[in-house]
Amino acid sequence: MLSAETLAYAKSKIRDIPDFPSKGILFKDITPLLADPRAFHIVLDSLAERFIGEHVDAIVGVEARGFIFGGALAARLNASFVPARKPGKLPASVDKVTYTTEYSTAELEIHKESFRRGARVVIVDDVLATGGTAKAAANLVAAQHGEVVAYAFVIELSFLKGRGVLAPGRIESVLDY
Ligand code: AMP
Repeated sequence: MLSAETLAYAKSKIRDIPDFPSKGILFKDITPLLADPRAFHIVLDSLAERFIGEHVDAIVGVEARGFIFGGALAARLNASFVPARKPGKLPASVDKVTYTTEYSTAELEIHKESFRRGARVVIVDDVLATGGTAKAAANLVAAQHGEVVAYAFVIELSFLKGRGVLAPGRIESVLDY
């Protein structure tokens, strides 16, 4: 377990941007955290240690910021990395879902046959807000007969109650607001 001081250091690198991308949204900007090697390490250590001793076959990272943390976590957990992308970006045949976020309606795609049946999958994104994005990614995993063993986030906006949307799924988040 990382100390409260260590986690507070990482949290100090999250920048609040009011009214982005639209009025009323307080955007959690992770770029100062990415620019700080210690802070980036802290969040990856915190996420990785939660899966010590468990087998994870694949990380699904949600475009685009989920790629940054998901890719790094996949390398640490010796798991494969599967990108969940916005429409029209993946070159081969895809499965697709439509979902809503805190501020938009969107679609996500993953390549067909991304997992073997029963694969143990962790879904990774930077922020858990309403939970719609992570739930959509989970639906794609389920459609391909993978098992979502956990959702992992750097930031959880608890006041938006995304946990309820992902229930009874296991949720790991590093920094709570
Ligand atoms: P949701 O589907 O509502 O849980 O939204 C999660 C997705 O939207 C993630 O991919 C986040 O990157 C992004 N997102 C939603 N709300 C915020 C926020 N306040 N700050 C930064 N990113 C956000």
